[in-house]
Amino acid sequence: QVVLKNIQKEFTKKDVPLTVLKDIDIEINRGEFVSLLGPSGCGKSTLLNLVAGLEKQTSGELTVNGNMIKGPGNDRIVVFQESGLFPWMNVINNVMYGLLIKKIPKAEAKQKAIEILKMVHLVQFQDSYPHELSGGMKQRVAIARALVMDPDILLMDEPFAALDEQTRMVLHRELESIWRKTGKTIIFVTHNIRESLMLSDRILLMGTRPGHIKKEYRVQATRPRDSADSVL
Ligand code: ATP
Ligand code: MG
Repeated sequence: QVVLKNIQKEFTKKDVPLTVLKDIDIEINRGEFVSLLGPSGCGKSTLLNLVAGLEKQTSGELTVNGNMIKGPGNDRIVVFQESGLFPWMNVINNVMYGLLIKKIPKAEAKQKAIEILKMVHLVQFQDSYPHELSGGMKQRVAIARALVMDPDILLMDEPFAALDEQTRMVLHRELESIWRKTGKTIIFVTHNIRESLMLSDRILLMGTRPGHIKKEYRVQATRPRDSADSVL
């Protein structure tokens, strides 16, 4: 569970303070899929960076499962990064990498990686190298790499922005299906209204200047949640 209480974030630009986030109060429950929606510059990435511990709030309190966020490196929280696959490693080694760093035995790491690669429908590409994959496939490897760490909370900052519409739709369905299977809490940043409507339980609409949550929408499920797999 992620709780932000009265969060404020200021940056200083050429000695002029700039309030980016103001009076932010958010509670995100375990297993919830929440979208942050809003125009460019409204502070979406900044908010995500606070939760990730990559930035520190100016004031207010931020807790995850009751613990204060003190900095990066909380392994319950994983930031999905679309780029940064190691080009010299094949798919399975890219996915296993984080587990080996955590000193998980190789056989176990490999088994977990294969399980996750099945979820993103890439198990037959486990020996391929990133340059042999399409953009959408690389994106799926990146999702696998984040999921294999089994975080409670997955933070995604416009993960599919660079993809064509069709690939994005396929990945939406995969992400939705994974979310249902694993029960992860997902905080998803986008400026695509349709994307946020399709994927999330709840949309937090951020305004400009000074950034605050302007409105909150609960999304009605447009189809039975457990039938998503049949779409794949
Ligand atoms: P986009 O949709 O374009 O990604 P965003 O909603 O993610 O926008 P942020 O990146 O959070 O917006 O930026 C919000 C504001 O904070 C912007 O005005 C930006 O210039 C400012 N800002 C962000 N990071 C810093 C920083 N490290 N130093 C100074 N100002 C910053
Ligand atoms: Mg951003």
